[in-house]
Amino acid sequence: MTSMKPPMKMFDPHIHMTSRTTDDYQAMAAAGIAAVVEPGFWVGQPRTHVGTFEDYFAALIGWERFRASQFGIRHYCTIALNPKEANDPRVADGVIALIPKFLDKDGVVAVGEIGFDDMTPAEDRYFAAQIELAKRHGLPVLIHTPHRDKKRGTERTLAVVKESGIAEELVLVDHNTEETLPLVLATGCWAGHSIYPDTKMDEARMVALVERYGAERILINSAADWGVSDPLKVPKTAALMRERGIAEAAIKTIVWSNPIAFFAQSGKLDPAELGEAPAIDQRRLHEGNSVLRGQTPVTPGTES
Ligand SMILES: [Zn+2]
Repeated sequence: MTSMKPPMKMFDPHIHMTSRTTDDYQAMAAAGIAAVVEPGFWVGQPRTHVGTFEDYFAALIGWERFRASQFGIRHYCTIALNPKEANDPRVADGVIALIPKFLDKDGVVAVGEIGFDDMTPAEDRYFAAQIELAKRHGLPVLIHTPHRDKKRGTERTLAVVKESGIAEELVLVDHNTEETLPLVLATGCWAGHSIYPDTKMDEARMVALVERYGAERILINSAADWGVSDPLKVPKTAALMRERGIAEAAIKTIVWSNPIAFFAQSGKLDPAELGEAPAIDQRRLHEGNSVLRGQTPVTPGTES
């Protein structure tokens, strides 16, 4: 306890807060996370009605954004038909028809997660269709890459991007590994990495990637959701980078400047605004609802 210096400001550009608790929000804020992007994804249980998606998207731009604000965290989201449910004819076309009205809303900073899960013809079709939606609305895209057969999935992903004609700097390809990162960096796309407990990519492997490739166009996220995951993986990875001697400037680029630069291309995320801490006012309500259960509200001037 030698220093009262606040932690470095960090951005988790891929986290499903809808599935997380207020304890998580408190711990994230304490660890320095000042902003998040919550991608529209699947919710574990297959949805059987288009209307369920509509309410889910509305909650991302409404209630969840409000909930984050109550802990001093800025919340942005991305909207899409996710790759897994692109294979469900009960909902796929209806969701595609629904998306445009959400893309112009405040806080919607990209189309995503789109891409491949099993690499089916339906996934191919909806992937391309949603890149077209992004182009039409002037938004970047966030692309999920498959967990199985990842190298081939990433190669096909980059081929679809190229064929679509979207500017590569508007594309963030996520869930990279040692095998896929060089493929993504060889294009103009940005490269995301999801740091998971035990599997896929961890803090030490991420440090090794940064030592080898540097910080340019590199992002890290927790991808925390309703499964075994850790919403503090961004600060934990930043801490290991520091311990292993990665320069502060490079760490800041990865955990703060890069996600801001990428999502600011939407025109809906203001880098200047992000430089200032938002005032927390827990007296506020969202459609009559509060995050409090009788606690004393934090108000502007009483934040610790
Ligand atoms: Zn996700």
